[in-house]
Amino acid sequence: MKTRIVTLLLIFAISFPLSAAKPIRILVITGGHAYKIEQFNQMLASLGPSITYQVAELPGAYDMFMPENRNKYDVLVFYHMWQKITEEEAKVFADCIKQGKPVVALHHSICAYDDWPEYWNIIGGKYFHKETTYKGKVFQPCSYIHDLNFNVKVVNTKHPVTKGITDFPIFDETYKGYYVDENVTPLLTTDEPSSTPVIGWTKKYGKARIVVLQSGHDAPTFENPAFRQLLKQAITWVSKK
Ligand SMILES: [Zn+2]
Repeated sequence: MKTRIVTLLLIFAISFPLSAAKPIRILVITGGHAYKIEQFNQMLASLGPSITYQVAELPGAYDMFMPENRNKYDVLVFYHMWQKITEEEAKVFADCIKQGKPVVALHHSICAYDDWPEYWNIIGGKYFHKETTYKGKVFQPCSYIHDLNFNVKVVNTKHPVTKGITDFPIFDETYKGYYVDENVTPLLTTDEPSSTPVIGWTKKYGKARIVVLQSGHDAPTFENPAFRQLLKQAITWVSKK
């Protein structure tokens, strides 16, 4: 009987290599904007055992982009609004993603780095705090409105990030007038007049998959089941090569 159990265990181990069950390790980059830490972390914990998280705050978090630290996590989740970056930090940051570290960028991370256009290129969007000329176009300062009830429309229900999610209501902050790269793949839109229409998209930067979700200001969104599902599916999809 014992031999049989051992044999069965061996077959199980061969059929299901341990690597297949490894959780996706996310590194959440914060800094430059206050947020409800406890509720935000509750959302991360709700993603289940297939996703583990650690949080690193800028500017100390720049270390995590260094080549020797890149094997400590699988996916970057941006929830920062940091502005200051040196030339050397910018090079290492961009290289980390170009070499294949995927990104899910949330909410005010679209507003980060007013003076670093390569970041706008990485995520394919930018909320401008001041009048800015980019790619031959003049952008006026963008605007935001807090605490709005509006509808999120799912553009493509077959994409792995939005699969199984239908149009859903949200209570969140809108941004209007931000830049969205013309080459992104739109996933989510809204007809809320105080928002730029495209509020979720994917793109590639170097070898990395990128997903951007404009929503995510406060606890009601952290607790929104559709948003949690989107976040989980975004992290899972970008983590695949
Ligand atoms: Zn906000």
